[in-house]
Amino acid sequence: MNDCIQQKSMISEQTSKTCLFCKIIKKEIPSDIVYENDKIVAFLDIRQINPGHVLVVPKEHHIDLLETPDHILSEMMTKTKKLANAVMKGVKADGFCIGINTRPASGQVVMHTHLHIIPRFKGDGLRHWPGKELSKEDMQKIKKDIQAQLQ
Ligand code: AMP
Ligand code: ZN
Repeated sequence: MNDCIQQKSMISEQTSKTCLFCKIIKKEIPSDIVYENDKIVAFLDIRQINPGHVLVVPKEHHIDLLETPDHILSEMMTKTKKLANAVMKGVKADGFCIGINTRPASGQVVMHTHLHIIPRFKGDGLRHWPGKELSKEDMQKIKKDIQAQLQ
């Protein structure tokens, strides 16, 4: 194992011991689990943005989306489709938002990958993110900067 991978797995091991969601997965602390299989668990968020707010969480400890293997993300997304439909029907919502906060700047507080399913109701008062209009030049520069990172 090279130094970098070894260091990364040590960090991951350290954090998984104290990780809140790992404790929920191991049933060391209680939660309202709505679904689980060998790869993922889904439980009610303790602070419901709207009734039926569910977190979809991989059982393996990875700190965020970018660190999570693709096969786990696929399982999360496939089950999210099923769960979101069940949530919507279960709480009679009119729609839902999904979100994966990534890194503290985004509002990520729990450093174990998770996806929020947030049921939406007509007139529930939640607002969409405000959009800014940038200049054509700025848009072109941003596009090029992103494309350069995809090479
Ligand atoms: P994030 O800001 O994306 O990291 O979201 C973390 C979420 O975890 C928040 O919405 C919290 O309400 C939720 N949360 C924190 N502790 C618990 C818990 N013990 N059981 C269920 N959800 C929790
Ligand atoms: Zn964890």
